[in-house]
Amino acid sequence: MSIEVTNISKVYGTQKALNQISFKVSKPEIVGFLGPNGAGKSTMMKILTTYLDATEGEAKVNGHDVKSNTKQVQQSVGYLPEHNPLYLEQYVREYLAFNAQVHGVTKSRIDEVITLTGLTPEAHKKIGQLSKGYRQRVGLANALLHNPDVLILDEPTTGLDPNQLVDIRNLIKSIGKEKTVFLSTHIMQEVEAMCDRVIIINKGEIVANKTLKELRTEKEQVVIVEFDYRVEDAFLLKLPKVKSVKNTHDFIYEITFATTEDMRSHVFDFAHDNALKILQLNQKNASLESLFRELTS
Ligand code: ADP
Ligand code: MG
Repeated sequence: MSIEVTNISKVYGTQKALNQISFKVSKPEIVGFLGPNGAGKSTMMKILTTYLDATEGEAKVNGHDVKSNTKQVQQSVGYLPEHNPLYLEQYVREYLAFNAQVHGVTKSRIDEVITLTGLTPEAHKKIGQLSKGYRQRVGLANALLHNPDVLILDEPTTGLDPNQLVDIRNLIKSIGKEKTVFLSTHIMQEVEAMCDRVIIINKGEIVANKTLKELRTEKEQVVIVEFDYRVEDAFLLKLPKVKSVKNTHDFIYEITFATTEDMRSHVFDFAHDNALKILQLNQKNASLESLFRELTS
């Protein structure tokens, strides 16, 4: 197991940032750690990279405990912090060379990571002269220097323009073919574009942990309909592709269909055929994005 987190809690002063978090990530896998701002994503990542101690619980990276085997954990992990701290006055190669020395890796590895992250045309420039997209590449190159098995990337695509976004996503996807990538984001589309699995965190607690495949096949649709008088649930269950019916309020019903096809016209025809009047008819979208909103609002 690449990452193994068991009942981790973190308290800052009086504030509980993480509450009994547990999850696992295996290799190779790209897992999205999704949650709104302040959910606890960076805190969890800092614990995994040994920058921060947990208040309670256990975390292991590549089988090494973050508390007792700090050095081994650091050797196993490449970390791109949220606010990628680069020295703008340094040249790309100079910056990487300095960190290569810290990690004790060979000079040839610097050229390898420069090629791997597509930095070659910019490698002779000062970091301050680079676009945000290229600065992220420098951060990724730096995280890859010591060839770690696990990459922990804190909001790697935040603040990039659409073209840079596509480039960095592709780069992360290709890295994820061989390594474990655990990346945080507050944007659902990022998860859809890059990840095999999503772990959703809200207010320091995990509210979902599912593969994208599971989420896709789960797709269903909810139609909210209000009639002019009460209808038996059993009657509404005669609708095509219906999964369940819930009477939420007076004459209002939430009907769940096992399809993504818009079922409102079927409901309309059904009402008409049965001499029911419809007072309102709305569709509740059950996409990944609405799942995220539902779980974190
Ligand atoms: P995210 O990365 O999901 O936006 P963070 O892990 O940065 O969330 O923060 C989780 C919560 O912990 C937030 O409410 C934040 O204000 C709080 N927090 C983070 N770092 C500190 C700190 N050093 N001291 C006090 N509170 C903190
Ligand atoms: Mg954060």
